[in-house]
Amino acid sequence: MKYYIESLGCAKNTVDSERFAAILDSYHIKETHEITEADIVLVNSCAFLLKALGELDDALCEIMDIMEGKKYKLIVTGCVTKRALKTFKEFFPEVNKWVMLKDFEGFEQYLKRYVFPKNAVRKPVPIRHDLSDGQYVYLRIADGCDNHCSYCMIPSIRGPMRSVPIEELVKEAKAMTHAGQELCLIAQDTSMYGMDIYGEKALPRLIEELLKIEEYKWIRVLYMHPDHFEMSWLKLWKENPKLLPYFEIPIQHVSPHIIHEMNRKKSYVLLTKLFEGIINELPNAVFRTTLMVGYPSETKEDLLLLDKFMQEVEILHTGVFAYSPEKELVGYDDEGYRFDWASRQTLEVKYAKKVFTLKEKKVEKMIGKTFDAIVEGYDHDHGWLYGRLWFQAPEVDGILIFEGKPKSENTQVKVEIVHALPDYFIGRFI
Ligand code: SF4
Repeated sequence: MKYYIESLGCAKNTVDSERFAAILDSYHIKETHEITEADIVLVNSCAFLLKALGELDDALCEIMDIMEGKKYKLIVTGCVTKRALKTFKEFFPEVNKWVMLKDFEGFEQYLKRYVFPKNAVRKPVPIRHDLSDGQYVYLRIADGCDNHCSYCMIPSIRGPMRSVPIEELVKEAKAMTHAGQELCLIAQDTSMYGMDIYGEKALPRLIEELLKIEEYKWIRVLYMHPDHFEMSWLKLWKENPKLLPYFEIPIQHVSPHIIHEMNRKKSYVLLTKLFEGIINELPNAVFRTTLMVGYPSETKEDLLLLDKFMQEVEILHTGVFAYSPEKELVGYDDEGYRFDWASRQTLEVKYAKKVFTLKEKKVEKMIGKTFDAIVEGYDHDHGWLYGRLWFQAPEVDGILIFEGKPKSENTQVKVEIVHALPDYFIGRFI
């Protein structure tokens, strides 16, 4: 038997998908990247935004079209089971099983009862099945969130923050060294790691343990909330080169009244102080952030302040989202809710263009400079090697194409940038 996994949403969802895949592996079911060969199709859904529910809707329609007439089991799990499940069950009666969020036990029980032959033998389950085709491993250090930002559904979908004990994380990280040389620490808010189980922020303690795992050449910390990041932690980055000076700090906005209404704290002055403070300590630090434009009370002055901040603070990677009334539209098919989507869309596109233009100028200055990079694979269609520069996080910051062939099989290399576009670099091996 073969299985096909469609993992939607964020990296935290990918970790769940890898756990579901590991259960299938333990029953000798093989993964296929060709859906038409699959006996089991598992869709791990995202429900963070209405847009994501729309993507799930499209994905299920497409799968059922492709698989029409074939004998297979369609199983859906993930965040939709915590938001809009009733609606999707009505929309998609063809789905054989809806597995609740992270209900690994329930998934296995269903397979044993309705899918696997009675004499199916189970071998020990590996922690996770690596679903990525790159040189990186996501380590989800906590799940859930206690921050309750005004626009966010995550706390109601994933619940309160639950950190994973350091020993378990070290064990998981060691078990996944075969999957890549880069370890990416993820959670909804990595900077609050440990508060629930150790009564204090324990991110530095965790990092110190993970730094001891030699197989990982790079460690990257993602999703650090600006209100909870501690400047005292920079010492760890200064003393450990394999801890990449890559800081993903989502700010959402800089206007004081909007930040206050979002139930967040740091705005223009303190955010400027935070980013400049990090740069003073680590001059080669690189930042990723996200902006949310179109918040109901947003004014022209607020956007001018945001423009001023983006001009003043050197942020390389910026994701832009339009405000969406998620809390008002908990359901998926709430007819009649009046919301000006069009103006938000226009604003999102306008700011995406702005940050793209800003980034174009920044990457141009990189041409002729040398950077550490990682070789991740060979593109047979184009006949070139590809990978990422150290300041490119997996899946979000674009790709590096290598010119020529490396002298050794080593995946850690140095390159000189010969061509640079915002998310597309060409590097010559040094
Ligand atoms: S910190 Fe992130 S996940 Fe948590 S409530 Fe805010 S936006 Fe949502």
